Formats: sequence, C-alpha cells, structure tokens
Amino acid sequence: MSIPADGHRAGPAADVGRWFSTAAAPAPARSLPRTPAWGPMDGAEYGRISGPDELEAALDLLREGPVAVLTGAGMSTASGLPDYRGRHAVPRSPMTFQEFTGSDLSRRRYWARSTVGWTQFGRARPNRGHLLLARLGAGPLPQSAVITQNVDGLHGRAGSDPVIDLHGRLDRVRCLSCGARSSRSALHSRMLAMNPELAARIEELASDAAQAPDGDAEVDRTSSFRYPPCPLCGGILKPDVVFFGEAARPETVQAAFAALAAARSLLVLGSSLTVQSGLRFVRAAHRAGQGVVILNDGPTRGDPLATVRLHGRIEDVLGTWAERLGPDVAPSGPAVGPTPDHHPRRSTEETRA
Ligand SMILES: [Zn+2]
Repeated sequence: MSIPADGHRAGPAADVGRWFSTAAAPAPARSLPRTPAWGPMDGAEYGRISGPDELEAALDLLREGPVAVLTGAGMSTASGLPDYRGRHAVPRSPMTFQEFTGSDLSRRRYWARSTVGWTQFGRARPNRGHLLLARLGAGPLPQSAVITQNVDGLHGRAGSDPVIDLHGRLDRVRCLSCGARSSRSALHSRMLAMNPELAARIEELASDAAQAPDGDAEVDRTSSFRYPPCPLCGGILKPDVVFFGEAARPETVQAAFAALAAARSLLVLGSSLTVQSGLRFVRAAHRAGQGVVILNDGPTRGDPLATVRLHGRIEDVLGTWAERLGPDVAPSGPAVGPTPDHHPRRSTEETRA
C-alpha cells in the first residue's frame, strides 16, 4: 500500500500538546478566528453505550483476520492522562515546533513546565483497556500492530507488540543536531540538579497541578530555568515526540501503513480522528475495502467511513469481547490505574509563565 500524498504531513499531534501546552502562546491575529486545538466537538453526543448486538457484529468482523489497531487519547484517560476532545476537555494552545526551536525563552518555558508535568506523567500506568488489548492481541484477536497517537508508552508496558508510536515517545529525548536519542528520566534528573529552586518545590507543584480544579500549576520565572545541551554535540535537545507544526517521521508512517496493509480490518479506539495523522488510516482502510470498527465516546471524523460504529468505555467493550472469546483473556484482579470514573484532569503541565 502506498502512502497517500498527505502521508508525510502528520498534522498537529493533538495528543502530544497537552503535556506541553503554553498558556503564553503568541496571541493570534485579531482578525483570524481561532479554532481551538482542544475541547469537546460541537454538537457532540457523548455517553452513548452500544448494545450487545453491535458489539457482536464488530467482533465478528474483527475475527476475520489480523487487526490493525489505532489508538488515541481516549485510551489513556483511565490512566489519569487528560483527554483533549472528550466531554471534559479544555481548549488550550500547545507549543509548536517553530516556537520550541525558534527561541531559547520558549525552550526554557517548555522545559520548566514539562519538568513539573513529567513528575505526574512518569507515574501513569497501563489501565485495564491497555491490558485487555495486549491479551487479546497475544491470544484470540491477533493484531498486525498497535498504532498509537499517544506518546505515553503505555501500550508497550501493557505487553502489546509491535507498537508503532506515530507521534513518538515522551520518555525519550532526541538531539536536533546529531539525532542521538537518550532517556528522559536521565534528563529530568539532570534538570532538577540544574534548577534546585524548582526541584525543591517539584512535588508541591505537581500535586497542585493534579488537585487544582483547573489543573493549573504555577511555575514562576520560567525564563530563568536552565536546561542542558546535547552532551555529544552541544545541539538542542527535544522530547522525541511530534510537536504541532512538525511532521511524523516518514519511516514511522510507512510502518503504520504496512501494518494496516497486513490486516483484514482496522479497529480505532479512543480517537476523535480530528487530525489527518489518524484519519488517513481510516480512509486508506475504507479505500482498500477493509472493515473499519470505530469505538469512541463522542463523534469522530471517521464516522461516515465506519463499518461498525461503537459507543462506550474502551475497557468495557474489550472486556465484553475478552469474556466472549475465552476466560483466559480477561485480566483478573483490580484494574490498574485510577478508578475509571475519575474526572479527567487537565494537564498538570498547563502552567503560567
Ligand atoms: Zn547532539
């Protein structure tokens, strides 16, 4: 399968921006109406639940052969990571690639907030949905790949294999000059050492961010935040994720299309398919005559192309399929992660400069 003309343009990586949004983004020109990158979609119908017949119809379709799975932010809300188009999502402006690479001040602001956010983000654990998907894939519902728009790495930790991280991974860092990859945890420790004042308040800041109703944390004087250059070449370090205004890596996109081509059907979980980055796979599957099952709370841009459109919680639907396919599939014991009914939090990294 060839990559469509738009294949190299990832479009905005909405799942990414929530962890490094910038409240101080340049104001848009007054004459231009701003389309929020986040927030519930207009006229959205949230909270519907599909009946057993619909779940069965979808399962019949998925059992015909290997499934390519595409996941979005809705997959990780039960792990405590905020959604961006769910019913509680709050509009925000992410830092763009151009801003990040364009000024030292933007990078200070980004890394200061991101250091607070990482404290919470780094603690997120796979939820029941991740675990069920991995067990189904290893057992009765073979998957060509899990293609994810999320940058949290939770599919891999739950045991899914292979996972294609369409928008990269937040736990890795890449040098913009020499391309060397390194660990975010190591950089995090280094930044704490370089910024003892922030380090002394990090838990307090992270907890404020997690508990405040609006999820905002205050990080003062981000302009004095210090961050290190690449230890190998002195270049600029950037999280190994696709920012708004940046394209996904062609080889990653190619791998995702190959996984789709190797599948009989496409299963979309927890993505509103708002950005072309995800929607193009639905379009390609539809063009190729593959079955398309979309499960999301609220409308998606792929709805007109779905063979079966499902509504409900991801872990509930996967749990139903797992029970249907065999007792060995459903994870026993309590679900991992926060209780499913928690109110999705806003980004703990959404802070004011
Ligand atoms: Zn370098």
